[in-house]
Amino acid sequence: MTNPVVGVDVDLIDGLNEAARSTYPDEFLCMLREEDGIITEMVILPGTVFGDSHSFLNQWMAPVDYSIAGTAHSHPGFSNEASDADLDFFSNMGGVHLITCQPYDRRSWRAYNSRGETIDLPVIYDR
Ligand SMILES: [Zn+2]
Repeated sequence: MTNPVVGVDVDLIDGLNEAARSTYPDEFLCMLREEDGIITEMVILPGTVFGDSHSFLNQWMAPVDYSIAGTAHSHPGFSNEASDADLDFFSNMGGVHLITCQPYDRRSWRAYNSRGETIDLPVIYDR
């Protein structure tokens, strides 16, 4: 099993936003790996097509390995609110899910649990 997630590395937030920016106006989608409870790494599945993620999220349901802590994706727009499709996906996946939106900066993301509730995930600056 994965460790309970207690924080997210600032480099992960920066990397996610950078990926979101370069994928814009399409959505960026990846899985997240944790180390000692801190989300540190984006895992991009082979064959991932960036586009309307809501149409292909469901094919992601099989867990890849046990260090997968959740997912992250970007919204082309200024809302990091989870959509109905997102909530469905989160509840099927379990874990922690990040959504970032424009302007893709350190404040533009939000974390959700598998029930779709916003969670407070501290950013870790000094790993
Ligand atoms: Zn979404």
